[in-house]
Amino acid sequence: MDYIELHKDYKANSLFGRYITLKNIEPLLSKFQTEVAGKSVLGNPIYKYEIGAGKTKVFMWSQMHGNESTTTKALFDFFNVLHSQEELAAKLLQEFTFCFLPMVNPDGAEMYTRENANKVDLNRDSLNLSEPESKVLRQTFDKFQPNFCYNLHDQRTIFSAGENGKVATVSFLAPSFNEDRSINNVRAKAMNVIAAMNNELQHHIPHQVGRFDDAFNINCIGDQFTSLGVPTILFEAGHFPEDYYREYTRKMIFIALISGLKHIYENDIVSNEIDNYLLIPQNNTSFFDFIYKNVKIYYDDKEIITNFAAQYKEELIDGEIQFNAYIAEIGELKGKQAHHLYNAHKMIYSDDLDSIPNCGQKANFYLGKHIKFVNGLKN
Ligand SMILES: [Zn+2]
Repeated sequence: MDYIELHKDYKANSLFGRYITLKNIEPLLSKFQTEVAGKSVLGNPIYKYEIGAGKTKVFMWSQMHGNESTTTKALFDFFNVLHSQEELAAKLLQEFTFCFLPMVNPDGAEMYTRENANKVDLNRDSLNLSEPESKVLRQTFDKFQPNFCYNLHDQRTIFSAGENGKVATVSFLAPSFNEDRSINNVRAKAMNVIAAMNNELQHHIPHQVGRFDDAFNINCIGDQFTSLGVPTILFEAGHFPEDYYREYTRKMIFIALISGLKHIYENDIVSNEIDNYLLIPQNNTSFFDFIYKNVKIYYDDKEIITNFAAQYKEELIDGEIQFNAYIAEIGELKGKQAHHLYNAHKMIYSDDLDSIPNCGQKANFYLGKHIKFVNGLKN
């Protein structure tokens, strides 16, 4: 199957970039038979969309972390496929019944925060169910009784697939159901699907798929649902070089969704892909957005050669997401990689403050007399 072509044909073009809110998805949802499953803290609707008539029930939810929108974009691309005349659409709707909550945390989406309006991380609220959004998610799960759950997220730009590996453009996890991180049938089913998605993704993003840490935390939704006996898959949409809007990553999530579902309906006999799942390299924290190497600074009247790193913060300003670079670490930066790497070749550092790079200050500075860096980038 030509997934790239399929994505081009069915991409929901009105959704673009990182700031995806109810205002963006409501016009698209109005074309489908949706329901309001409940309300957020601020009274915004949490939409539910069900489609399909198959025996395998798949529950997918996105943006429980409000600022993690990449998988929401991919879901709407996928909805367009389901509504198409493609043979694939007929097959999917015959094999599966889908239930989607495409924006669990509409308040966080609007404010571009991970947490909801009460500043609670909904992915740490699966046991307490203190928040209205967590309750909606849980009630939908209880009512729908899925065979599989897809827990759709974004991860930061800092992760590599394995130690010193390439950037983790997509990461997965089959969450644990106990402290021992045992593998039972439920977890194995999730692992099988992940291994199948990884197989397909390796054609598109070789060595850029990671496996998330499986430390057990019953407050996390994936661990909770796995312990309740439903195979649950964590998706983490990550960085691809120069793709800060995550449009390429969106395509990779789309491919993962479809290839995983194909695996489920093509494999009636239980496959065993646990080894292949475990071969996926573990996520490692190794990237900064910027590293500047061999920079000369004067410190206590001494000349030293050092390195420093800067990292983007995504800030919502006047209704737009700005990527603002701040200095994040100074020193050896052992084992660290960067999406943008500059070698200063011992040029002197200066800025408009004290001419020493300090953590937390904006990445606006000079290297040598004439090379100006604004917001991390060479001007
Ligand atoms: Zn998340």
